[in-house]
Amino acid sequence: MSLLNPRRSAGARRFSPLGLVEALVTPHGIDRYLELVNPMLTVRDLRAEVVDVRRQVVDGTGVDTRLTLRPTRQWDGFDAGQFVSVTVDIDGVRRTRCYSPANSQHRRDGLLELTVKAHPEGLVSQYLHEQARPGLVLGLSQADGTFRLTLPRPERLLLVSGGSGITPVMSMLRTLCDEGYRGGIVFLHYALSAEHVSYLPELRQLADAHDNVRLALAYTEQQLGGDLHGLFHASHLRDVAPWYANAQTYLCGPPGLMAAVRAHFDGRRLTDRLATEEFAPAPVAAPDADVSGVTTFARSAVTSDNTGDTLLEQAENAGLSPEHGCRMGICFSCTQVKTSGCVQNIRTGEISSDPDTEVQLCIHRAVGDVALDL
Ligand SMILES: Cc1cc2nc3c(=O)[nH]c(=O)nc-3n(C[C@H](O)[C@H](O)[C@H](O)COP(=O)(O)OP(=O)(O)OC[C@H]3O[C@@H](n4cnc5c(N)ncnc54)[C@H](O)[C@@H]3O)c2cc1C
Repeated sequence: MSLLNPRRSAGARRFSPLGLVEALVTPHGIDRYLELVNPMLTVRDLRAEVVDVRRQVVDGTGVDTRLTLRPTRQWDGFDAGQFVSVTVDIDGVRRTRCYSPANSQHRRDGLLELTVKAHPEGLVSQYLHEQARPGLVLGLSQADGTFRLTLPRPERLLLVSGGSGITPVMSMLRTLCDEGYRGGIVFLHYALSAEHVSYLPELRQLADAHDNVRLALAYTEQQLGGDLHGLFHASHLRDVAPWYANAQTYLCGPPGLMAAVRAHFDGRRLTDRLATEEFAPAPVAAPDADVSGVTTFARSAVTSDNTGDTLLEQAENAGLSPEHGCRMGICFSCTQVKTSGCVQNIRTGEISSDPDTEVQLCIHRAVGDVALDL
């Protein structure tokens, strides 16, 4: 089995006679017309049709929505651990969010499996929980992200997850099992209790079927049943994967777990042995910046006093609904052109004053007067 994804390394798109037709129907593009006939019949746009929906109550109140998607022919596949952006139309506004496929990258039928945790106040996760049904067509991006299994595969792997952060590492585990990987794998998952573990039957099945896979469950509330108890502690690693310092570790989970594991690896100078993925932005202590001035959203003819919030928050507080996804600078769906003024990247502190440049609204704030083509 080739471990490289042939379609992802296939190179540039070839010329198609449809390009000519597309030029003739400009400015809307042929896909705008084709979608009136069949939204899955696209020339350029990548989309996906929901073919199966399973809703699983994970803790008595929380719900996971497991979607099986059939992408259109433009889909290039993914590497285990990467994410896709999914776009839905809610009350006439396009909303984009990132989700990490949980299936093996070698899945033969080409379908994608996403598991979406319903956040109580969440727009897109609630929409998918309530509205997803077979036949629903979603906008899809190609896979992206540097959190992925490396080649050649490491000799031993520790996969650590918490809560809904299980999806990318589930994909890694399934991919490695499909490849007949023989190195040792420890899958360490943190949850409040057994009822909170998404994919528990699948995990048990994989561990039973592969003698190189060890499943370790750490329950932070339930006293019995798990292999480990309580929040992350260094002793957990020593108990379940004493060789972790010489292995590659992949980590995805809630901010508290991420911070604790990261601090442990950093403290032991093992930073380069740890790859991480975050679903939610970690709090950032941005350097002080000038919070005076006015932000102008020129196309919308709206202005707002600079509050020191991100440009995305400022736009939303001013009544605008710019397209956005991850809210943490990963997916680039909130990128807009800054026509003038100075902005600061809240993650790096970097200040930029070049006119007519693209900025990600979610991780930049205004420093003084700023104008955006929004
Ligand atoms: C690379 C990446 C991969 C992801 N993969 C998955 C996945 O496989 N499964 C999955 O369920 N989610 C995943 N997410 C999170 C997902 O993109 C959305 O953030 C999540 O579904 C909430 O979106 P929403 O529209 O429902 O909430 P929003 O309307 O955006 O937010 C509503 C409220 O929920 C809070 N909130 C938003 N996101 C989170 C979060 N992740 N954790 C806690 N609080 C949050 C916000 O602060 C806000 O208060 C991933 C995120 C990233 C960046």
